[in-house]
Amino acid sequence: MAAREPAAVSVAIPAPLWRRFDYLPPPGEPAPPAGSRVLVPFGRRKLIGLVWGKADADLEHSRLKSMEQVLDVGLIDDHLHAVVEWARTYYQFPPGEAVNLLLPGALRRAQPFRAPSPTGLALTETGHKADFSRAPARDQVRSLLQSGPTPRQALVDQGVRPGLLATMMKLQFIEAVDPPEHRPVQQGPALNEEQRTALAAVLRARHGFVALLLAGVTGSGKTEVYLQAARRLLSRQRQILILIPEIGLTAQLVRRIEARLGRRAWTYHSGLSEGERLACWHAAREGRAEVIVGTRSAVFMPLRRPGLIVIDEEHDASFKQQEGARYQGRDIAVLRARMLDVPVLLGSATPSLESLNNVDQGRYQLLKLTQRAGGARQPRWQVLDQRGQSEALDARAITAIERHLKAGGQVLVYRNRRGYAPVLMCDSCGWQADCHRCDAHMTWHQHPSRLQCHHCGASRPQPRRCPECGSPRLSALGAGTEQLEETLARRFDGFPVFRADRDVMTGRHDFDELLDRVRSGGPCILVGTQMLAKGHHLPGVTLAVVLDVDQALFSGDFRAPERLGQAVYQVAGRAGRGDLQGEFLLQTRNPEHPLLSELLRADYLQFADRLLKERHQTRLPPAGPLALLRAESHRPGDAETFLREAALAIRAPGIEAIGPIPAIMSRRAGYWRFQCWLQADGRARLVNRLADVVPTLANLPSARRARWHLDMDPIEL
Ligand code: ADP
Ligand code: ZN
Ligand code: ZN
Repeated sequence: MAAREPAAVSVAIPAPLWRRFDYLPPPGEPAPPAGSRVLVPFGRRKLIGLVWGKADADLEHSRLKSMEQVLDVGLIDDHLHAVVEWARTYYQFPPGEAVNLLLPGALRRAQPFRAPSPTGLALTETGHKADFSRAPARDQVRSLLQSGPTPRQALVDQGVRPGLLATMMKLQFIEAVDPPEHRPVQQGPALNEEQRTALAAVLRARHGFVALLLAGVTGSGKTEVYLQAARRLLSRQRQILILIPEIGLTAQLVRRIEARLGRRAWTYHSGLSEGERLACWHAAREGRAEVIVGTRSAVFMPLRRPGLIVIDEEHDASFKQQEGARYQGRDIAVLRARMLDVPVLLGSATPSLESLNNVDQGRYQLLKLTQRAGGARQPRWQVLDQRGQSEALDARAITAIERHLKAGGQVLVYRNRRGYAPVLMCDSCGWQADCHRCDAHMTWHQHPSRLQCHHCGASRPQPRRCPECGSPRLSALGAGTEQLEETLARRFDGFPVFRADRDVMTGRHDFDELLDRVRSGGPCILVGTQMLAKGHHLPGVTLAVVLDVDQALFSGDFRAPERLGQAVYQVAGRAGRGDLQGEFLLQTRNPEHPLLSELLRADYLQFADRLLKERHQTRLPPAGPLALLRAESHRPGDAETFLREAALAIRAPGIEAIGPIPAIMSRRAGYWRFQCWLQADGRARLVNRLADVVPTLANLPSARRARWHLDMDPIEL
């Protein structure tokens, strides 16, 4: 019998090309199965790829190259392979992106992979006995390790310098060990009736898929429900995957999980080193990691014995990836849960319209937590009319802040603009400092003093005189968080004022530490941006003030009202506790805007319901499907030409392609930006059409003169 030719396979390679590449197995070896990690020659380089499937049957093998090496056979299981294949068809990204989604960074390098070293630390005999009386820092490490092996990260989180740990390791005072998986369990509170109902709904579905939307204000006990559900599933040897919007929330949650579940909580996010991420990925894949807490990219975590997926703050925009493979992590999580046949819990104080629509359609089950744990009452609302006022803070807001501080309360001031002022203006001629590369004003920062574009990152010194008329009278138009901090500190001398925005919270633990300080401290003012509207538990806050919401009321983005409502409810939701009536003030120049009265009259779910009805009238998402085809180019005509040709290729019966139209920010970082709106009668119809056409768009000659991508279910216009 003649030797059969070795079967070629198709390999996904992390290159931005709309195709996969076929290879023969290494000489003398069998073809590796799908999901195998391989090293292949690609041009002059060698790249890591993932075997995706069989090659086209009729290819001439003689023209194919052989792989260099099969590194890991079947590293990615069929389930994850299928999830990413679904995502690729639905979101239309180049096949090679699969590699970036599925492999942690350390496994994408063309290097042999070393087993990650243990991430825990323990005292050695020497360390136990050493005399550290003249070395207080070492003594601190010893006392932290006294109770037993501890994750290295936990020590760093408590302020131990990594360099000190390295030295102590070299001197053999401490050693690397695997941190213990099990530890003592703290008893949680008895659940209230609504929490019990929610828990029962998860546990009823123990052996199957169910999607539950847990809607409850911050502090209503959602996390408590996750924890108790997780506890039951852990006792059945199942793994728990918890997705959270941002790194800033991990440390707090990890501490709580470990205390309550008695298990190590593994973490996976961009703040970790490559080695730490790899260790987590491996432990999850092997089933050693029982609880995994991660940000968006953890939605592709391999799981050996999955039992429950939780998405906390499910409405948060950060679950949508905005570059490369533009997937919605929340939707992938629900898809995975369905394919794995396990329950998925989506929690939020302000659920997305997408999820509420899924409740209406019978796909998700809604569970409400209406009681605030500890019996706190809902805050009192008031609108402050700002028309004709120039001060950033209304006099009535100042009086209220004073009253709350003196009564022992904490105050939260929300302003979604960082910097000193959003605009620097000439008092004489009206000139305003604009970015030369964007269709936007430069933000004025004072410490350090500079003009900065928040869209492209451009920065230039603050001018001393107006470049138009030479006048030295330049002043701030409006106030950002930097200015508010200054104003508040001057006015409320004696009370600490803390600022939370991306300019000051630069370190990985800064925000977490700040929140800890606020939680354990007395009366103070916390002023900040969007960061403050992200579900942090701050039980001492009795007054929340929201400034200047007017921009969102008139935005061209149909999602702006939803986002405004979410931010307002997130901020307001935390004012008030058992003994002090909470208060909530909203400053606006449009007090009669129907959206605001709606916002103030209703609770969030009623407000969202009204928005959802509007979306149904306009057939906008989630009522109808929407994809954006975006393009940008240095010359405005190039992006437009590409989109015009692309729209022509996409249009078909039942498929609409509107555009090209300029993006809301029509110029950014020197590029002119345009988009086409793609809509259809049904989601499947749109997805199928795009799956047929989008991969061919790269062949249009005009595609070479523009940068372009498809964004399915976009969350920004
Ligand atoms: P959320 O996740 O909705 O913000 P948490 O679960 O963090 O709410 O609960 C807020 C606080 O209330 C926590 O300190 C928690 O321990 C406490 N808590 C939650 N549920 C109960 C309950 N049933 N009885 C007493 N305290 C509770
Ligand atoms: Zn001027
Ligand atoms: Zn710019």
